[in-house]
Amino acid sequence: MIDNRQQAGVSLLEQHKLDALVFFDLHNVRYLCGFTGTDGALVLTREGSWFTTDSRYTAQAEGEVRADHIRSHRVKLDSVTDILKAAGTTRIGFEAQTLPYATVEKLKERGPGSWQWVPLGEELEGLRHCKDSQEIEALESAARLNAVAFEEIVPQIRPGATERDISLALEFALKRLGGEEKAFDFIVASGERGAMPHGVASEKRLVAGELLTIDFGTRINGYYSDETVTLAIGEVPDRQRQIFDIVLKAHDLAMDAVKPGVALSDIDSVARDYIVERGLGDYFGHGLGHGVGLDVHEFPVVSPRSGGEAEVGEVFTIEPGIYIPGLGGVRIEDMVLVTEDGYRALTRIDKKYRRIAV
Ligand code: ZN
Ligand code: ZN
Repeated sequence: MIDNRQQAGVSLLEQHKLDALVFFDLHNVRYLCGFTGTDGALVLTREGSWFTTDSRYTAQAEGEVRADHIRSHRVKLDSVTDILKAAGTTRIGFEAQTLPYATVEKLKERGPGSWQWVPLGEELEGLRHCKDSQEIEALESAARLNAVAFEEIVPQIRPGATERDISLALEFALKRLGGEEKAFDFIVASGERGAMPHGVASEKRLVAGELLTIDFGTRINGYYSDETVTLAIGEVPDRQRQIFDIVLKAHDLAMDAVKPGVALSDIDSVARDYIVERGLGDYFGHGLGHGVGLDVHEFPVVSPRSGGEAEVGEVFTIEPGIYIPGLGGVRIEDMVLVTEDGYRALTRIDKKYRRIAV
């Protein structure tokens, strides 16, 4: 019962001359076999797939897991060891980025001395980067909720409200509309606090004449949205407006550079070069974007150090920012899907300059 996703896992077996691949990372497990619970592991071999979970999830697994064999365990590592022994494996690949060293040691102790544990790090990064139609639908639904929830709470953005008020209103609206969970602690940073790229919502009150950056997202069917809007509360000083225009232009240029085959580092430099040319390169300290899927931050990374090229089906963010200590900051973020002829934005909130009347 090997499907397309599991077939990609089997290809890894062949590539790295492995007998088995063991997955403990729940996002990888979910991707490969559909399990949505919180305790389980998946073993893939050329002969078939085994899923193991504890008794809380046995019934659920019978309904949702795509695997040849479903087992119930008391001790997960014992169950995985039994599966690997029964399958007659020697070379076993594991998730080097997420499986704790101590767990690998325990697995080694349980098996015969002939077992070879092969760490797979970057080799696994390609597993989930291209999204299929089902995944795109979930990502798009999450992005759609962002837009609806955001418009709902805009009337609450006014001088006197705290950043925390805005964050909570947004979180509540997203949940009420069907979002499973907030994607991360929302960033709501106004005025000088906008200079902190990760300024989580504080008790600071919004003031007329300031910029406000809101970075937020939700989750639908396991898939996240991630989007940043920067707004003006009333009339802001010229300098702030100029910075906004520079970030927006950098964002638009980078979006338009997205198409299959373009180096990810080139997409980054389209935005970065524009900001550098305006003398503000020192204030754009992070990479341009990151993949979004079952994790809010996943492969591929879009930065000056990125190695690969954009591929059809990849979903990543474009999020240039300028952060000037003592003055404030602007970030504008959208999620794009790479398509045959370029890209399609999944996030829907219009990013043009928007002034809240005060
Ligand atoms: Zn974000
Ligand atoms: Zn992001």
